[in-house]
Amino acid sequence: MRIAMIGAGYVGLVSGACFADFGHTVTCVDTHAGKIQALKQGEIPIYEPGLAELVASNVKAERLDFTTSLAEGVADADAVFIAVGTPSRRGDGHADLSYVYQAARDIAGAISRYTVVVTKSTVPVGTGDEVERIIRETRAEAEFAVVSNPEFLREGAAITDFKRPDRIVVGTEDERARQVMTELYRPLFLNQSPLLFTSRRTAELTKYAANAFLATKITFINEIADLCEQVGGNVQDVARGIGLDNRIGSKFLHAGPGYGGSCFPKDTLALMKTAQDYGAPVRIVETVVAVNDQRKRAMARKVTEALGGSVRGKTVGVLGLTFKPNTDDMRDAPSIAIITALQDGGAVIKAHDPEGIEQAKLVLDNVTYVDNPYHAAEGADALVIVTEWDAFRALDLKRIHGMMAQPVVIDLRNIYRPDEMESLGFRYSSIGRRTVA
Ligand code: NAD
Repeated sequence: MRIAMIGAGYVGLVSGACFADFGHTVTCVDTHAGKIQALKQGEIPIYEPGLAELVASNVKAERLDFTTSLAEGVADADAVFIAVGTPSRRGDGHADLSYVYQAARDIAGAISRYTVVVTKSTVPVGTGDEVERIIRETRAEAEFAVVSNPEFLREGAAITDFKRPDRIVVGTEDERARQVMTELYRPLFLNQSPLLFTSRRTAELTKYAANAFLATKITFINEIADLCEQVGGNVQDVARGIGLDNRIGSKFLHAGPGYGGSCFPKDTLALMKTAQDYGAPVRIVETVVAVNDQRKRAMARKVTEALGGSVRGKTVGVLGLTFKPNTDDMRDAPSIAIITALQDGGAVIKAHDPEGIEQAKLVLDNVTYVDNPYHAAEGADALVIVTEWDAFRALDLKRIHGMMAQPVVIDLRNIYRPDEMESLGFRYSSIGRRTVA
């Protein structure tokens, strides 16, 4: 089948390359000329493991190409996916749907036969209705169906997630669209991924409910971690103790500095706003949002406490800047709030990240970026582990101890053990476990 993917970002590029790999013919369209230019030259504008190879092989097989011309991409497509950004709208926290609606208008002008328009972007309930209205208003005679097909992939594991999803959710009541979607995803349900058909509004809401639930799980264990610190418990043991219960499950029970990234913060906020608008507030999610917001700066206070109550004039080395490992994505990364709060307190920041430095430079000022973890530790009064990149899991701790001005480590991802840090002579604090003073 022929697919047009509107938006060649983390979701659009991965989905487009994966659909091409299944044998479909895909054109990725993006308004960002530099991005398309780079892709045409074989450069991948984002860091996602395995993506460069996947794109290259499918371009070579002539199943994947790139253009800035939406009309060109959409003309012969059986399905047009909208995978543009839906960031938080400045001021009120609702999802900004201007990119989605612009894409809908452009698509309306370009379709030439029955086309399934699929919203893959995360969009509030009712957006599909509006996309349909826009296309109808622009082209009264067009033959099309608007389907919701939210994406559940995770950055850092995006290709595997796309190719082996736990489920595929398709929201449509149009029988022809249902057949097209079934055909598009056939390779996946042959792999036994369930294809779940729902109404369009239900599919839209399912995505928000999933993200809000995961954000709640993280926030829950974070609060249990705080309690562990007060009562002398160990949050990792608690997490294991509850996670082995199949009704709870062990995933998303890693206590840390608070969730961040390009999805959870904006999606929890957007769900909260939608629910308020419909007079059915989601109070648990409202609390999750508030608790998580406060948590990031609380992490900076943890660093300050570890340094005896003030960071003024102190050098803090930061390991990890991206919101999670294996991505270069800095959107709403906890590191931003933590570093800014430390700078507000007068700290000097040195930071290292394996892939995120270029993106970090765009959002964090007055940081000295260094090219390896040891340079971040050198001469530092404290070393803070913010993102659990594999490269930080087996550091030469003796060497680090020897090169720091003070042997103080604040491990916001619990990747080391208090007893090993104690035996090496560090002052060590982590999340929801005993502090080594
Ligand atoms: P992104 O910012 O990386 O990519 C969006 C792309 O769309 C950009 O390259 C932009 O230039 C392009 N664009 C904007 N308007 C356009 C238009 N009219 N025509 C063509 N291109 C246009 O965003 P992303 O992270 O890929 O997210 C896209 C959507 O998918 C969002 O709604 C997001 O919530 C959702 N989502 C993201 C993830 C994730 O992990 N990133 C996971 C699941 C769902």
